Amino acid sequence: MRILVTNDDGITSRGIQALTAAMARLGEVIVVAPDRQQSAVGHALTVASPLRAVRMEREHTSIAYAINGTPADCVKLGISTLLPYRPDIVVSGINHGSNTSVNAIYSGTVSAATEGTLMGIPSMAVSLTTFDASADMSLAAEVAYDVAARLLDLKLPAGTLLNVNVPTVDRSQYRGVKVTRQGHNAWKDGYDVRKDPQGHPYYWLKGEFLTLTELEDGDDFAVQQGWTAITPIHYELTNHAELDRLKGLFQP
Ligand code: MN
Repeated sequence: MRILVTNDDGITSRGIQALTAAMARLGEVIVVAPDRQQSAVGHALTVASPLRAVRMEREHTSIAYAINGTPADCVKLGISTLLPYRPDIVVSGINHGSNTSVNAIYSGTVSAATEGTLMGIPSMAVSLTTFDASADMSLAAEVAYDVAARLLDLKLPAGTLLNVNVPTVDRSQYRGVKVTRQGHNAWKDGYDVRKDPQGHPYYWLKGEFLTLTELEDGDDFAVQQGWTAITPIHYELTNHAELDRLKGLFQP
């Protein structure tokens, strides 16, 4: 099996190193990842400036490129142009930080996997629910291995990917895997207003993650209880439940 590994925290992050080592037990690992931190860039593509691909030597990989672009750029450029063959699966992560609830929309980690799905390749994103840079990645790496090993057999429908969130718990507290839905929690946004040396204000996003609606079958609730949350998600944006109602209003 050939596994394309990418992320949004950059090619030097601890998360992608742990993921690469885990995926090497499954097959041949190819890394195409951003050359710098690209968290929360969503599904952005680079269109107004050129992309550069720097070939690198990375442990456990047959081919590795660092790209001066977004996670979605990495998957698109890698599969369409850089790689000599199509990967069998795309695995994105291990992200430093939760991609539950609304985070999945902003996430570059999830968008990289979404891009894999758009290109017709079974894909998954893996996140560890802490921003602690020194956090133990071993449980998340094991979960990534277990899910990736089954990804082809799952026969996900076209356009559907797996969003996997692993709780930050001791192994003694870890409870296993739950299949969940995307939660309904969100950030209470705010900005730190600071002054630059010339006295001009600048703004730095800060926020507080709020539990708005506790969905007992949701991803946030599962990881809070010590479970890995696996949520099948898709990029189809149509609200099917609204179709008929709006047809009645616009096409009476
Ligand atoms: Mn990230």
